[in-house]
Amino acid sequence: MRYVSTRGQAPVLNFGDAMLTGLARDGGLYVPETVPQMSQTEIAALAGLSYEEVAFRVMKPFVSETFSEEELRGAITRAYAGFGHVARAPMVQLAPNHFLLELFHGPTLAFKDFAMQVIGQLFQIELERRQQKITIVGATSGDTGSAAIEAFRGLDNVDVFILFPHGRVSEVQRRQMTTPVESNVHALAMDGDFDDCQAKLKDMFNDFTFRDEVGLAGVNSINFARVLAQIVYYFTAAVSLGAPERKISFTVPTGNFGDIFAGFLAREMGLPIERLVIATNQNDILHRCLERGDYTKQGVTPSISPSMDIEVSSNFERALYWAYGKDGAAIAALMDELKTEGSFTVSQNAIGALRAVYDSGMASEARTLAEITDSLNETGELLCPHSAIAVSVGKQALARDPATPMVTLATAHPAKFPDAVEKATGIRPELPPRMADLFDREERVTRVPNDLDALEALIRERRRT
Ligand SMILES: *Cc1c(COP(=O)(O)O)cnc(C)c1O
Repeated sequence: MRYVSTRGQAPVLNFGDAMLTGLARDGGLYVPETVPQMSQTEIAALAGLSYEEVAFRVMKPFVSETFSEEELRGAITRAYAGFGHVARAPMVQLAPNHFLLELFHGPTLAFKDFAMQVIGQLFQIELERRQQKITIVGATSGDTGSAAIEAFRGLDNVDVFILFPHGRVSEVQRRQMTTPVESNVHALAMDGDFDDCQAKLKDMFNDFTFRDEVGLAGVNSINFARVLAQIVYYFTAAVSLGAPERKISFTVPTGNFGDIFAGFLAREMGLPIERLVIATNQNDILHRCLERGDYTKQGVTPSISPSMDIEVSSNFERALYWAYGKDGAAIAALMDELKTEGSFTVSQNAIGALRAVYDSGMASEARTLAEITDSLNETGELLCPHSAIAVSVGKQALARDPATPMVTLATAHPAKFPDAVEKATGIRPELPPRMADLFDREERVTRVPNDLDALEALIRERRRT
């Protein structure tokens, strides 16, 4: 399997190199040159298997030139051993034909653990094989950072630096990043919002001297290995509801577009997905884009669903790449326009291609809080704000097509966002017992300016050589 950049100008890589590289050298994102196919028979055969076995079968064709079957199986087994639910991604029913896929049973209580735990294991195998050390730098709106730290803490070949927007992540998110005691972990609180953090990260990757000097590697959802691991739960959910005989739709609380793009790849592999519904909060650039055909920045307004407070949605570039018939030059031009003008217009053909697969909807702050209350009253489920946005948008999508089962993704545990949940319901959700002492642990964090030189100097100084 060869991996190519969405902007068409970076070296073509195998999976191992694409995984360790993260962002392509032309500023693009790596994608598989061709998507491996699963036949209807192979999909039907997934019914009743363990999550780990489905993960092995789905991921294998993407990675087989880098990892042996034994290595992949071992990595998957270790990745999910620390989850708090034996099904890993269990589903509950919300209403007739509406199901909630619970993706918050991992060590940091958000769906990002599904991919990050696998990446940690795969990085370890590959770096040991290559006798190589790397510096991981990630930008986070909250959940990626804690998941990355949890996956890489204490590893010999890796230093981890996580940039998060100062004052804009929840206390549980912050503490999950600042309380690990391992010396290879560095939590950096940056002045600015998530898009500023992400922009600094991209600037570091585009500083090739720095990039090569520190062995920079990225684990943001720009890393294809992240997207890959997330394809798996679309298969387990759909098959348990009757795929491949029955078509299934999914609603996904969306920020950086990594999670929903994994659903697109599941569909490209042959899983019969009817609609992929993008759910956004008030920062609704993706919803506006789908409706109007232009992608236009307006500034980010902080919300009670901070992991979706994004307006440069990195993985949307991958969706555009498919919508533009894999025309790297066209994607490079759009991304240049976004950088210089703050907007671009999607071509008629491409917007048609996007609308053939994706729907979209937005939930305001008030609607989000109301949905947390409604869901509690209707089902007894306490939802985190991100999941509540998706349930609200998912209900509307289901009403348009009541015959197709709707799976809505619950991306975080309510205890990760206790303030919003308490505001809506009066109930303060409790952390699971395994992390009940989070508020007693000592915090370790460095405040950093929104300045590339200062950040690079700090990383040079702190990393172990
Ligand atoms: C990261 C995150 C999202 C958004 O996922 P993307 O892959 O960035 O679209 C939604 N909800 C939660 C809780 C998250 O942590």
